Amino acid sequence: MSHTKTVAQTFSNFINNEWKQSSDHDVIASYNPANKEEIVGNVQKSSKADLDEAVEAAHNAKKGWRKLGQVARGQLLYKVADLLEESLEDIAETMTREMGKTLPEAKGETARGVAILRYYAGEGMRSDGDTIPSTEPDALMFTRRTPLGVVGVITPWNFPVAIPIWKIAPALVYGNTVVFKPATEAAVTAAKVVECFAKAGFPKGVLNFITGSGAVIGQGLIDHPLLNGITFTGSEGVGKNVARSATERGIKYQLEMGGKNPVIVARDADLNLAVDAVLSGGLKSTGQKCTATSRVIVEADIYDQFKELLLKKIDEITIGDGLKDGIWMGPCASEGQFNTVCSYIEKGKQEGASLIYGGEVLTDDEYKNGFFVRPAVFENVNSDMIIAQEEIFGPVLALLKVDSLENAIDVANDSKYGLSASIFTRNISSFLSFIDDMEAGLVRVNAESAGVELQAPFGGMKASSTGSREQGEAAKEFYTSIKTVFVKGS
Ligand code: NAD
Repeated sequence: MSHTKTVAQTFSNFINNEWKQSSDHDVIASYNPANKEEIVGNVQKSSKADLDEAVEAAHNAKKGWRKLGQVARGQLLYKVADLLEESLEDIAETMTREMGKTLPEAKGETARGVAILRYYAGEGMRSDGDTIPSTEPDALMFTRRTPLGVVGVITPWNFPVAIPIWKIAPALVYGNTVVFKPATEAAVTAAKVVECFAKAGFPKGVLNFITGSGAVIGQGLIDHPLLNGITFTGSEGVGKNVARSATERGIKYQLEMGGKNPVIVARDADLNLAVDAVLSGGLKSTGQKCTATSRVIVEADIYDQFKELLLKKIDEITIGDGLKDGIWMGPCASEGQFNTVCSYIEKGKQEGASLIYGGEVLTDDEYKNGFFVRPAVFENVNSDMIIAQEEIFGPVLALLKVDSLENAIDVANDSKYGLSASIFTRNISSFLSFIDDMEAGLVRVNAESAGVELQAPFGGMKASSTGSREQGEAAKEFYTSIKTVFVKGS
């Protein structure tokens, strides 16, 4: 890897087990959103020629990697887990500097990455098929899981360690080779994760890492003729593009996209619990989780009480550079994200919602070099307003008042998205109706909308997803094909 001592470190692509600069010798700087004068690092601005090299390396490695066997593949992932654990402090600090989430959150995410690696390392020892009774008594019939081949991994910036790992680890253990393209806004963190894979000693070409623009490297990857599968997490617009290209070439694809996640606060809810969960689920990571709470649907009977408590507690939130002790919420992750959040706050005002808290850009000395916004709370929001329908991906909460639980669930379902949803209630019938009627891939009772466990399936319904699931054992469905084997003695 090359180092620029006077400025920021420059990270290379990792292709065929070599760290390589782009053929154009061009780099892209990644900035700290808490202090835009700081370059966290530079990554390669790769060309189509670099991408071809990466995909060809993965293509040439796929047979050997498949034949190595699942157990040996799992053992390598244990090594990566140990290496990531050793680098946890450095990687977490890089993540905070690069995309702004607070250091405790970044450490938690990196530790999650370690746990995901160990989970999939363990998969190396688990079943890769089933036996099925045949109608012919002297025959043996069984299934084998076989890898897809070369899998493209395209990831967003909001979970720069966990999302790449929850894609790359199952892809590898089930026998695929990988070309990984991270979001540029978090590519330095991603490069440090790839360093752990590089040190673990995989065969050449098994994991390839390439940075560059979505338009050139992302699009070039999804269109590449040597690709056998593509897993994408990001925005709906780009996701549709991935689907079109993959469908045209008949390759398997998986999309996890946006959300507009509701929390229902029923009249019998524990209001303290509900308020804490709305703040944590809605505003941690500056509201930039795909499972973040953005719509809070409150029964009229307890609306005023809930609102009062929410406004009291939201005012205790400390905002600032996520590296500092005691900071609860960092900046928006980039200038683009900051502009988007500000424009939605303006739209909310223009369409007649009442801004009852925050929403202003912070300009005092400690904030002036960063992309800081005070969390915003709107009320008098109707379900058909833009701020109740479009994903904002920032610290903005919309309060919607309803007169019954049935209406609450109807409003919660009035969205093209269906990723995550929560209810706060003590009533068994209420939460059973919610579990049954809610159109979301993750439904949670008396718990915040953002929160997943790595051993459970994760994914959305409706426009949030293509319906396949990531994480846990469910990941196997995407990263493998089933081969049905029938054997008869001669
Ligand atoms: P994005 O769609 O802008 O970018 C995602 C990735 O796609 C990046 O690596 C980007 O470089 C790449 N890309 C951009 N243009 C491309 C193109 N034409 N072809 C191929 N790749 C291209 O999304 P983002 O801003 O990085 O992330 C935020 C979005 O991700 C939000 O919508 C959020 O809800 C979603 N998200 C979803 C989940 C989930 O699991 N459902 C998790 C995290 C984030």
